[in-house]
Amino acid sequence: HHIVEVQNLSYTYADGTKAVDGISFLIHHGESVAVVGANGAGKSTLLLHLNGYLTPQKGKVRIGDFPLTKKTIKDIRKTVGMVFQNSDDQLFMPTVYDDVAFGPLNLGLPAEEVEQRVLEALSRTNSEHLKDRPPYKLSGGEKRAVAIATVLAMSPDILVMDEPTSNLDPRARRSLIDLLSGFHHTKIIATHDLDMVLDLCERTIVILDGKIMADGPTLEIFQNT
Ligand code: ADP
Ligand code: ADP
Repeated sequence: HHIVEVQNLSYTYADGTKAVDGISFLIHHGESVAVVGANGAGKSTLLLHLNGYLTPQKGKVRIGDFPLTKKTIKDIRKTVGMVFQNSDDQLFMPTVYDDVAFGPLNLGLPAEEVEQRVLEALSRTNSEHLKDRPPYKLSGGEKRAVAIATVLAMSPDILVMDEPTSNLDPRARRSLIDLLSGFHHTKIIATHDLDMVLDLCERTIVILDGKIMADGPTLEIFQNT
């Protein structure tokens, strides 16, 4: 039973741009999948369908037991944690602690469990020391780690990340890759970062003009290009 199913998905923006054009794939529980392709290939549009920021115009998306529809978006967002390309879009509270607590509080969890989840997520992302800082004052790498903590605090089964190493310096990039290699969640990562693909993703999906050009073991994909 696959945890993610995308079948014949297409998406056209209001201005007529066909960003995703008949994409299909299945992802197993625990798999780490890179989504690669040039700027404008359709990676972000595809990823935005995996947690319901977009709903299918054509084709279907299933996450776990839930077919993606407007009605199942809440269930899907509990299953899929999305790390956006720009961490500033994800961090909006006065302190890092408040940002990481925001999701669990929204789930209506008891205070002790919220606190436990926040501290664990901060610890797993090596961000405990940042907890009282305002997010806007953090470095790019720190913001990205905190953005990942906000997602981990929700205990999602699936992590979806859109260019998580973009704008990071080499040291922050390396530490993020090392961090993520310790997570055994299902991961779907859109990236231009070859180290990230080779170190984290056993499988690579190549997208061009909204279509899948190749899908297979990462080493085979990069041998053949
Ligand atoms: P990628 O993530 O691979 O760079 P995107 O999914 O962002 O690709 O974009 C795919 C195509 O859709 C591009 O041609 C892009 O210009 C277009 N696009 C993205 N967002 C919008 C939007 N909000 N309105 C119209 N076109 C868009
Ligand atoms: P849900 O419908 O599941 O309650 P929301 O639509 O409230 O979720 O939020 C969607 C996403 O936007 C969440 O990931 C949340 O972290 C984020 N978000 C919610 N409220 C705000 C806000 N005031 N500013 C910025 N982002 C927010």
